[in-house]
Amino acid sequence: MTNYNYIPVAKPCIGEEEINAVTEVLKSGMLSLGPNVSEFEEKFAAYIGAKHACSVSSGTAGLHMCVIAADIKQGDEVITSPFSFISSANSILFEKANPVFVDIDEESFNMDPEKIEAAITPKTKAILVVHIFGHPADMDPIMAIAKKHNLTVIEDACESIGATYKGKMLGTFGNPAVFAFYPNKQMTTGEGGIIVTDDPVQQNLFKSLCNQGRSDDGQWLRHTRLGYNYRLDGLSCAVGIEQLKKIEFLLSEKEKIADKYNELLKDVKGISLIKTKEGCTRSWFVYVIQLDKNIDRNKVIEEMNKRKIATKPYLPSIHLQPLYKEMYGYKEGDFPISESISSSTLALPFYIGITDEELKTVCENIKEVIIG
Ligand SMILES: *Cc1c(COP(=O)(O)O)cnc(C)c1O
Repeated sequence: MTNYNYIPVAKPCIGEEEINAVTEVLKSGMLSLGPNVSEFEEKFAAYIGAKHACSVSSGTAGLHMCVIAADIKQGDEVITSPFSFISSANSILFEKANPVFVDIDEESFNMDPEKIEAAITPKTKAILVVHIFGHPADMDPIMAIAKKHNLTVIEDACESIGATYKGKMLGTFGNPAVFAFYPNKQMTTGEGGIIVTDDPVQQNLFKSLCNQGRSDDGQWLRHTRLGYNYRLDGLSCAVGIEQLKKIEFLLSEKEKIADKYNELLKDVKGISLIKTKEGCTRSWFVYVIQLDKNIDRNKVIEEMNKRKIATKPYLPSIHLQPLYKEMYGYKEGDFPISESISSSTLALPFYIGITDEELKTVCENIKEVIIG
């Protein structure tokens, strides 16, 4: 029976608090560069345990500024993961540098530290670490390799707010780290992102870069470097402040839903559930299952869609995107583990407010579609 409405993959969790906060900003007449920008930044930095934060118009904008701050230039190389959302690699291309992919490990879906050193050349400037699906990358060996080869570590923590590696918050390893607030993330500001750093010099640079390269002396129409308009507006900051107040709730609700899925799906033949490695806590971003190789994923998506349930292939490997194939000549087989994960993972509906009934419906239909 399909007597329910369409079940989407993601949905933001917005309450009266966010609506009221936005209304207040609108009434104040100060829609950008108001006091709530620094309020959001200070509160966010405190939550992560970093000294500074610079809010930005998107996670991608934040990553771009991190690449600039690391002095990455044309022809330089940056080591990163092929199993990510495209913008982590694109942020390297923005500065005409080259992403150098390192294949992932099968359990965490993050860069395999054992494969990193073989990818280092005299041109390598940095490691752009992605913590995919809220699972921490293996930071101890990565930081050791970076130290040994004098490389900057940039953390793409856009999917991983609140996750920890050996008891330490993600976002405190790299200098800097980036979080993102698109509506499918754990917390949202609409569009938006934030960079965290402990370095006051870097913080000043970010503040200037995202604000048209304005000089540090605060003169409004004095521009000392090539900058951008990557500012986050006041409406978004107001939403961010309210979302951050409930971050523990947002994260624990997601975890509860993941636990329910794990229980409902644990014995289903044909699928495997993703794991969290020892020593890590995951921040639940998406709920993904892995389909056995003999199952036609497109068919599953199509069948689920007929039953009014959205599912998504998540994520395609970056090196096989048309842009990257064209630029670098990548082909299938270049990063086999990333490709194998890309071809078998499926994201299920996962948002706060999904009812137990809906969860059951999703799982029963998945079983029917897979087992027949
Ligand atoms: C969401 C995300 C980003 C940033 O995306 P924006 O839409 O620009 O905020 C970067 N990297 C990863 C891995 C992401 O999931």
